[in-house]
Amino acid sequence: MVRSFTSWTKTLSFPARLNTHHKQQISSKENTLSSSSSSHSSDLPMICSQTKSRTPLSLTPDVSDSEKDTMGSLIHCIHYKEGCKWYDELKSLKGHLQTCKYDAIPCNKCLAAIPKTLMEDHSKFTCPERITTCQYCLESFSGMEMEDHTGHCSYEMVYCENKCGHKIQRRLMAKHRANDCYKRLVACRYCSKSYVADTLVTHQTKCTRAPIPCPNQCEMVALPREELDVHIKEHCNSLLVSCVFKDAGCRFKGMRGETMEKHIEENVNQHMLLMCSLVSKQQQQISTLKSALNKVTLNYSGTLIWKITDYSLKCQESIELLSPSFYTSQFGYKLQVSLFLNGNGAGEGTHVSVYIKLLPGEYDALLKWPFSHSVSFTLFDQSEKPVNVVESFVPDPTWENFQRPSKQPDSLGFGFPRFVSLDTIRKRQFLKDDAIFIRVKVDPSKIVAV
Ligand SMILES: [Zn+2]
Ligand SMILES: [Zn+2]
Ligand SMILES: [Zn+2]
Ligand SMILES: [Zn+2]
Ligand SMILES: [Zn+2]
Ligand SMILES: [Zn+2]
Ligand SMILES: [Zn+2]
Repeated sequence: MVRSFTSWTKTLSFPARLNTHHKQQISSKENTLSSSSSSHSSDLPMICSQTKSRTPLSLTPDVSDSEKDTMGSLIHCIHYKEGCKWYDELKSLKGHLQTCKYDAIPCNKCLAAIPKTLMEDHSKFTCPERITTCQYCLESFSGMEMEDHTGHCSYEMVYCENKCGHKIQRRLMAKHRANDCYKRLVACRYCSKSYVADTLVTHQTKCTRAPIPCPNQCEMVALPREELDVHIKEHCNSLLVSCVFKDAGCRFKGMRGETMEKHIEENVNQHMLLMCSLVSKQQQQISTLKSALNKVTLNYSGTLIWKITDYSLKCQESIELLSPSFYTSQFGYKLQVSLFLNGNGAGEGTHVSVYIKLLPGEYDALLKWPFSHSVSFTLFDQSEKPVNVVESFVPDPTWENFQRPSKQPDSLGFGFPRFVSLDTIRKRQFLKDDAIFIRVKVDPSKIVAV
């Protein structure tokens, strides 16, 4: 029989220091201890108390201070008589006995020398020759075989390595991981990318390659999600679309494809009429816009600076050039300048001729007639020290040209047929970069430059 530490310490009666308040308790147990110790007296360890006290002591668990003292007592090994030289505190004895060669006996199975205190443990749990039964597969193994078997028994319940939380017999694990584990990787059947099984359904609600039926219920049964937009916009034959002549006023809506083609074919005349009325409506809009634009850009300053570009080309054409119209003030007279680069009348072929004429204006009814503002024409010299050509006049009240203009105004106006000679214009720098500048200034002050 294996003797445990507790079994032999209970048989002891040895001297130890005693705490005064434990005295009573201890003396009452003394008799019991003494009587049970007698049969084991040969096994008693040699006790050397650290104190002079000779009072017997028990190791009852509730006498903790005394126990501490006792455990600190210095003793020899229980195999002292057989030759073991070990000598230390009582509390280290158990540890020592695990290595004490005097305490060892051969295991009856594996024949290894095992300390007596460990023999029970050895034959139950560590002896390589012990016979043991696997708790999972219930098969019998020698201790040595068991070492190899442990951790490999195919009937042991183990957790799935994918951390899905499943615990199943090892032999079923491969099948679980391949087919059932919801943490296994599976390929999406539409886009072929790999997803953890329990996220696959969520993925497929967004997968760009997952097929979706056309919301217009056209002949296309289903198509990949990412192609649906283009299909609806460009190819779906069940999409209701407006007639291409919608902007012209056609209200027809029909399915793209055959239905729409038929509508267009059968309604050529109606569509033509709609287009015609749209065109005339737009023409009206254009002219309204034009006049609005003219008003915005109208010159109300009484001064026009007119740049004539492409001089050489316009010289060859010998035609009348008309300036943009302008007003003497916001509610004043409306005027226009005309220019003959190769002359007109008395200046024909020798001079540049320039005239001003009155156009019918918005406020003519309120203005004073005849027109009597002074008018001056200036041809700019574009050199650094310019010497401009200036001609001006104050209208004579008797002149026809300055009466209130009719709807078909005088075709020429009044001015200078010999404004500047063709020779002069090529001298200095009146002509530069193939352009000349003429200023026409209309002034109510009647003061004129001479
Ligand atoms: Zn020993
Ligand atoms: Zn053994
Ligand atoms: Zn097993
Ligand atoms: Zn799993
Ligand atoms: Zn997918
Ligand atoms: Zn469709
Ligand atoms: Zn139509």
